[in-house]
Amino acid sequence: MSEDFPLELPLSRERACDLIRCSEAELPRLLAAALAAKQRFKADEITYSRKVFIPLTNLCRDYCGYCTFRRDPGQPGAHTMTPDEVLEVVRAGEKLGCTEALFSLGDKPELAFPEMRATLQKLGYKSTLHYLEAMCERVLRETSLLPHPNPGLLSAEWIARLAAVSPSMGLMLETTNTSLLATGAAHDKAPDKVPSKRLRTIAEAGKQNVPFTTGLLIGIGETPEDRVDALLAIRDLHNRYGHIQEVIIQNFRAKPEIPMRNWPEPSRDEMLRTIAVARLLMPEVNLQAPPNLSAPYYEDFLDAGINDWGGVSPLTPDFINPEKPWPHLEQLRTRTEAKGCTLRQRLPVYPEFVPAVVARPGLLSEKVRAAADSQGCARRAA
Ligand code: SF4
Repeated sequence: MSEDFPLELPLSRERACDLIRCSEAELPRLLAAALAAKQRFKADEITYSRKVFIPLTNLCRDYCGYCTFRRDPGQPGAHTMTPDEVLEVVRAGEKLGCTEALFSLGDKPELAFPEMRATLQKLGYKSTLHYLEAMCERVLRETSLLPHPNPGLLSAEWIARLAAVSPSMGLMLETTNTSLLATGAAHDKAPDKVPSKRLRTIAEAGKQNVPFTTGLLIGIGETPEDRVDALLAIRDLHNRYGHIQEVIIQNFRAKPEIPMRNWPEPSRDEMLRTIAVARLLMPEVNLQAPPNLSAPYYEDFLDAGINDWGGVSPLTPDFINPEKPWPHLEQLRTRTEAKGCTLRQRLPVYPEFVPAVVARPGLLSEKVRAAADSQGCARRAA
């Protein structure tokens, strides 16, 4: 790494590729530059969203090599939640001060499984997305929580439909490396993980001004340069549409039951380098890393420039990584404060995007207005 700190921001690709491979000796200067950029963006405040996790269905037509969430019909644990089950979890979360109902689900399972088609028919819906839309609407109408759906690839029509019943939504880009689609790689047998299709969904959300969460999954076979390219692809879309409310840097974790069980996990320092470079590439975008996937050292990510812990549940386990429980909220607060920051509860839609959502007429606007305080954070913060 050359010695020209302070850095010129935003970073070029060449400089970012240089930094993401920096030596251990150079890492402290990279972190200091990233932390300074974060402080200029949002000084001393770290946010999180108090949420319940709704695994609407864990059937999925894709087979990602790292996934513990998905099931085939008939496999132990395969389940599609009923409307009553959804509402029961959401109401329990309401009592615990939650403000987000995070819907996570497999991508288009009815295209692969007649069992899912039969389930949907019994429930009275044409597709999983129709069912998701109806559940988001019920949560919005009947509770104080705000839905945030993560349903996989979406057409322009479905982005518009879901945006009418949820203030924000998400799709992880994960990577732009197409070689991960090759036989035996992480995205072999995962037709919905084609990077160009995911970028198209994110761009379409931008065209419709939908506040959008995306991010990288690191350690699944990509190179550090691939991480820079994925971050640049996100930055380009954000520069064009201004709709990226949050970028997540998530680390792969090996588990005994997955095809990639023997794959090496990314190290703490790889996470720190990736987070720091993400911050320097996008100095004014919210940056998040999930604390439960990096215990016991997750607070170190604050030194690399994150400003958010993502969704943290006081109630439901992380169904994507069920063996990694979320830290207790008090512990999260203590560790955040030990780094000189205050912890603040936000809504699933970030404060800077709240004004645009409440400007639209209708139920969604009313519900977001009721949930937000004067600064766009959670009014019911506990
Ligand atoms: S990561 Fe998502 S798309 Fe891939 S198999 Fe799991 S649920 Fe399906």
